[in-house]
Amino acid sequence: MLYDVILPLAIDGVLTYNIPESVGIQPLIGMRAFVPLGKKKIRTGIIYREHTAPLPEGQTIEIKDVICLPDEQPLVNTYQLRLWEWIADYYMCSLGEVMKAALPTILKPESETHVCLNPEAELSCRLNATQQRILDCLADGKERTIDELCRLTGIRNALPAILRLQEMQAVFTGEQVENRYRPRTEKRLQLSDQYRSEAALHSLLDLLERAKRQQQLLLCFLSLAEDSGWVRREELLSLSGVSPAILKTLTDKGVLEQREVAIEKTEKDVVFSEAKPLSHAQQQAMESIQTQWKEKEVVLLHGVTGSGKTEIYIHLIQAALLRGEQVLYLVPEIALTTQLTERLQKVFGNKLCVWHSRFSDQERADIYNLLLKPDSCKVVLGVRSSVFLPFSRLRLVIVDEEHDSSYKQQDPAPRYHARNAALVLARQAGAKVLLGTATPAVETYYNAMQGKYGLVELLLRHGNIPLPRITTIDTRLCYKRKEMTGHFSDPLVHKLSGELERHKQVIVFRNRRGYAPWLSCPQCGYVPKCVNCDISLTVHKRQGTLVCHYCGYTIPLPQSCPVCGETALADHGMGTEKIEDELHELFPKARVARMDLDTTRTKYGYQRIIDDFADRKTDILVGTQMVTKGLDFDGVSTVAVLSADSLSNMPDFRSSERAYQQLEQVSGRAGRRDEQGEVIIQTATPDSALLRYVAAHDYKAMYAEQITEREAFRYPPFYRLIEVSVSHHDLHQADVAAAALQTRLQAVFTRRCSRVIQPVIGKVQNRYIRTILLKIEASAPYAKAKQLIHEQIRLMQQTVSARSAVISIDVDPM
Ligand code: ADP
Ligand code: ZN
Repeated sequence: MLYDVILPLAIDGVLTYNIPESVGIQPLIGMRAFVPLGKKKIRTGIIYREHTAPLPEGQTIEIKDVICLPDEQPLVNTYQLRLWEWIADYYMCSLGEVMKAALPTILKPESETHVCLNPEAELSCRLNATQQRILDCLADGKERTIDELCRLTGIRNALPAILRLQEMQAVFTGEQVENRYRPRTEKRLQLSDQYRSEAALHSLLDLLERAKRQQQLLLCFLSLAEDSGWVRREELLSLSGVSPAILKTLTDKGVLEQREVAIEKTEKDVVFSEAKPLSHAQQQAMESIQTQWKEKEVVLLHGVTGSGKTEIYIHLIQAALLRGEQVLYLVPEIALTTQLTERLQKVFGNKLCVWHSRFSDQERADIYNLLLKPDSCKVVLGVRSSVFLPFSRLRLVIVDEEHDSSYKQQDPAPRYHARNAALVLARQAGAKVLLGTATPAVETYYNAMQGKYGLVELLLRHGNIPLPRITTIDTRLCYKRKEMTGHFSDPLVHKLSGELERHKQVIVFRNRRGYAPWLSCPQCGYVPKCVNCDISLTVHKRQGTLVCHYCGYTIPLPQSCPVCGETALADHGMGTEKIEDELHELFPKARVARMDLDTTRTKYGYQRIIDDFADRKTDILVGTQMVTKGLDFDGVSTVAVLSADSLSNMPDFRSSERAYQQLEQVSGRAGRRDEQGEVIIQTATPDSALLRYVAAHDYKAMYAEQITEREAFRYPPFYRLIEVSVSHHDLHQADVAAAALQTRLQAVFTRRCSRVIQPVIGKVQNRYIRTILLKIEASAPYAKAKQLIHEQIRLMQQTVSARSAVISIDVDPM
């Protein structure tokens, strides 16, 4: 029998294979199939459908047999396949690209996948001859690819046996191979026995009065020591700012003992509790949501920050669980999930499963497999890609912070929007959707205004605490009057020190990481730039590097100008690192922590920072947009925004909307529990309309202004945007190819097609980029438009000069 198989490749369409009866398993749609590709490659594909269409006339390519079907059940169900189809069609990519994004890598082994022996394996069951041969082959401890193993063992198809060995944990594959060298231990420190008594400790501290740095280190140690008495060495060094040499002095003296211990997961013990009873307003909102669901599939919950949206979600989830249904709870980013996970675990225990971007591929595969078993997991709290999980009884989808732009995948394809994909998933599964946010996306609010979505408003905070008071500070005036210290105005410093004296916590928001966005030589004007991209390198002072934020290119921070030798290089602008330094100087007694991409690279990086802040071990938290979202702390009275203008000065039709959302979201972190919070915004344009809306928390006024502009300037929701990018490693070729494509598209789409646009960063990763923007009436036949675009691209690519240009399509670009 012939079947069409989806392969994880960027090819159009699917490939047809024969599944002979000799494979011994009844083929089902959605099953994995190991198939040959080209001369000797093996790929994992998904059986998509029976091949019924007659083969094209004169087909000369022989149809190959699949190698085997490794599973007895489908890995992908029909809901998933329908969603893949929708994404491929709507976002103009191939089914293979969707498959790539949708399945954990471990579930898609291929000939190039690496395999190695697990030296600690304890095998409880007997191995067959094939499996034994593979293990013998790996016994030397070397890594082999699946391809090599086939050759070395002489087994034509070793893949199924390797998979069984992996299931038995006798071998590692793929990402597991790289992870096996990760340290599983870390160094910890403990106070020596003789200093455990208070008296002994006191005399020791007195003794160290002369050795200030040792004393400082010891004090830091004491503040960090938990009940167990242990402190992580790394943490001590980074928080005390003292050198390892000083630490060594203390261990040599026998004050501290160092030990190597196994890393334990920092997962906390969960204390179970009931969901909190809803307030009257929340109860009404929930009933209204349920009533509107009778008529509409989607309801928007527009609830201000701190109104208790999360509590309402919890009650709705409970109701769904009572009916035995599955729930998907989408959140935009991992920063949100740490606090939220704890909150949900308390109520849902092991019915909850979490899917986030820091999970290893193995963990992803485990969760995926768990969901394949019926009745296993009921509530998935997940980020963007969780829409691809194998749900079978999905009846409720909650999209929290639905406005958040990180729901849109940028690169690579599929460039899908998870909220929109979730809407489609829900429709296909017959599930209801709740979109929740304090600052709806303009498109979403429009849909609610048009009656397409239901709308429920919750415009008071829980406990009737007023929304934070917003004050702006005019930085132009402050600079003129010399009332600035670094990037902090005097009134802001005054306010913050008052709050710290009251033992309140403060959040400082700056949407740029690193120390400074660029460096220059004051003598010759030289500015270090990325060799691959058309952008200056960002100074990262802690790491002593210059880094490209587009491609990751990194060089050591130069001590002098490579052109003229000048040693006093100047840095410009401010990133979170510099703000952190300035805070240390302004408030030497305050404990400052920084949360941005650089401090949260490790799996538990966020958790530590958030836990410390929640436990009030930190007074000031400075960070990028990570600090604006979803965090729920009792002690934060004040939020400072250092430069509001950098939020809205983007050449993008969404920039005002986004600036409003970010300012409203970050202000939502202040004064959530007992007293009204305060937000202080430094800006050069205190009179702008945008800041007026923010100050009044007036979402509707912002919306009214934006929707008028969107209509006037032909933007969504009135028009759909499709951005076609052309890139080439040669500048001239990029221009030629873009011009050729633009001419073609212009001929078809006339005034709906833009001229060729040069993006702000015109070169990224050694490729010159040009874009063409199409604006298509929302009422126009969209399928037809996409077909025309595909056609023009195909025609253009047939011309010889355009062959090596890479073309990518972004539907609904963000
Ligand atoms: P939102 O998700 O709208 O920002 P949350 O659900 O996080 O709001 O609620 C804000 C704070 O108020 C949280 O700390 C939450 O525990 C508390 N809260 C909200 N509703 C209730 C309630 N009904 N009973 C007790 N506490 C509540
Ligand atoms: Zn670069």
